[in-house]
Amino acid sequence: MALIVQKYGGSSVADAESIKRVAKRIVDTRRAGHDVVVAVSAMGDTTDELLDLANEVAPIPAPRELDMLLSSGERISMALLAMAIHSMGFEARSFTGSQAGMITDSQHGAARIVDVTPVRLREALDEGAIVIVAGFQGFNRDTRDITTLGRGGSDTTAVALAAALSADVCEIYSDVDGIFTADPRVIPKAQKLDHVSSEEMLELAANGAKVLYIRAVEYARRHGVLIHARSTFSSSEGTYVLGEGMKNPREAEGAVMEEPIVAGVATDFSQAKITVAGVPDVPGKAAEIFKIVAKSGANVDMIVQNVSATGRTDISFTVPKADAAAALKALAGEQTEVGFQNLIHDDQIGKLSVVGAGMRTHSGVSATLFEALSAGGINIEMISTSEIRISVVLRDTDLTEAARTVHTAYGLDGDAEATVHAGTGR
Ligand code: ASP
Ligand code: MG
Repeated sequence: MALIVQKYGGSSVADAESIKRVAKRIVDTRRAGHDVVVAVSAMGDTTDELLDLANEVAPIPAPRELDMLLSSGERISMALLAMAIHSMGFEARSFTGSQAGMITDSQHGAARIVDVTPVRLREALDEGAIVIVAGFQGFNRDTRDITTLGRGGSDTTAVALAAALSADVCEIYSDVDGIFTADPRVIPKAQKLDHVSSEEMLELAANGAKVLYIRAVEYARRHGVLIHARSTFSSSEGTYVLGEGMKNPREAEGAVMEEPIVAGVATDFSQAKITVAGVPDVPGKAAEIFKIVAKSGANVDMIVQNVSATGRTDISFTVPKADAAAALKALAGEQTEVGFQNLIHDDQIGKLSVVGAGMRTHSGVSATLFEALSAGGINIEMISTSEIRISVVLRDTDLTEAARTVHTAYGLDGDAEATVHAGTGR
């Protein structure tokens, strides 16, 4: 008998039928003899709809009230799910974030979990109940107010509960089958991974993969939580996300796992490139530029600086498309002080990343990438690397083709086309 935490995303509880299907799955787990704690998201697009409503009554909704509003989405789904389980003859009890002891800081809309005190959950488990917890929400002790953890925060709720309750596994259910070697909608030959290390998962998520939220993976890595990402809509096994020193449960069952050098290929269409042209090539200019960009709130990803022949140089960097306008405005405001000649904004770029822990110990991984792109006649505009990742910026119109070529070059193509349930991974 194990303690299993399950998280169901909005698409898994979108309507009454789906809620009943999820209830059945939970009951099946309970019948198998396990203790079950469930973190649930708001039904379907509820959170977006509530946000729209808020924006209709106020241009900038008060953060405290916005959290009161948004946290109501998960209260609906948790109560309905508990009712559905009841009607199947099982004891279930739902809890809000604060009842569940999800203690956060006071940052409305982006609260961080600082402590989890699941006293009431333990009591309910001891009494044989299935526990349902509203995802995405917490409580701050100083302000005594309800907080939310930021979009997609239910993943983090689930992982934090799993850590606090020392659960055997945290199963994250969505409408995709697990973690793939690439987005199956971009690369039909992408394959589902049996497992991926949490450090690879973090790089994939940070570079465009959308199945798991970075904060949840980070939390799991810090607290030694085993994640199993799988689909609500099929009974097939998903992908294990393994932290340091964690044993793959399937390996323990005798399966032989070969470790590929490259775990996956991520594609990201969400970045824009800004070039600060004609920057005086003297010490301190990069510092000035990136201080201005940081102050604008833009989150810089890749940076390249050209060699200068004329005493002036160009510095290019990428930021999320949504941050570009603020960064450009801030830079334009300080043009004379910094002394650059002009700004170029390019939002037609795509980023391709290859991620794999095997890069540490294998040479030639980047050569394979560059050869594949060159054979495809695809031009590279920027390059950056980490210990286990190589990223390149390309024209956005080249990204899909580039990703397919590279996926093939690393031997990641599967025999059959991946089944895509047209899901978003939420
Ligand atoms: N309902 C919240 C959102 O849509 C939290 C979640 O789904 O994880 O962002
Ligand atoms: Mg949602």
